[in-house]
Amino acid sequence: MLFDISKADIEELPDDLFLKKQVSVFVLRLDKIHPQLSGNKLFKLHYFLKEAVEKGNKPVLTFGGAYSNHLAATAFACQELQLKSIGIVRGEKTARLSATLRQCLSDGMFLKYISRKDYDNKNDPDFLINLQAEFGPCIIVPEGGYHPVGAKGAALIFDMIKNKSFTHICMAVGTATTLAGILLAAEKTQSVMGIQVLKGITDNKERIKQLTGKDEIFKNLHLLDGYHFGGYAKKTGDLISFMNECWLNYNLPLDFVYTAKMLYGVIEAIKKDTFKKGSKIICLHTGGLQGNKSLPLNSLIF
Ligand SMILES: *Cc1c(COP(=O)(O)O)cnc(C)c1O
Repeated sequence: MLFDISKADIEELPDDLFLKKQVSVFVLRLDKIHPQLSGNKLFKLHYFLKEAVEKGNKPVLTFGGAYSNHLAATAFACQELQLKSIGIVRGEKTARLSATLRQCLSDGMFLKYISRKDYDNKNDPDFLINLQAEFGPCIIVPEGGYHPVGAKGAALIFDMIKNKSFTHICMAVGTATTLAGILLAAEKTQSVMGIQVLKGITDNKERIKQLTGKDEIFKNLHLLDGYHFGGYAKKTGDLISFMNECWLNYNLPLDFVYTAKMLYGVIEAIKKDTFKKGSKIICLHTGGLQGNKSLPLNSLIF
């Protein structure tokens, strides 16, 4: 890895429910790598950054909305590696910038705002050619790292949990890039479980084909739907209470966009006996804690 990931560790969650159901639940704390950054984002960026460095420190250009963990991670990573970074931001510039964008600026990212309509063309070859004309040759990272190169980087996460005989690997699914990476790396006997945080996503299998470059159907893939709490970055009082309980019970800080929905889904699945007795479950804490700054003050006790 290009970054120090030694602070990430594996913790077991103590809970009478798990004892009763005879399962054990662990969390890989990728959120501990850095206070501001989403753990999985650095992994997805790994091979893009490596290429930028190897090609003579090329600037890195990527895309995201005003609350994008991916933009923040790219800005930070480029700052660390002394690479220039350019963020193409969806929507007009607002009078008051989001905490995420302010962080990007302070990490030296150059921000260009484009209309939502233009943003829809972000993957068109012509559009990318124009950007290269404007900013010069750069390494282009698709939004959210959604690319086989991003999946290959996410596969590195698996190195931290291999040889520990986990039966299930659970994670939140946004673009499905992390999921695809873990599927590439995991043993076929391990169940890889994705909890959807977006509403109405039906093309995950297609995405995984693209991301893994493999036509095969992954029989060990299981997608859990129904825990998006109204849609991407939507929340309910129930979800916020759950986050506070996780802090009290497990000393575990979660983010409301991804990891809280993931763990909520996993615990509901345990209650419904989805996991066989003896299951050893690892949940990926993919970070995202900076996103909690957008919650109303005092919602969270941590
Ligand atoms: C981006 C993000 C995810 C989703 O990862 P994908 O690879 O896009 O599916 C999960 N958790 C957190 C905290 C994130 O920031």
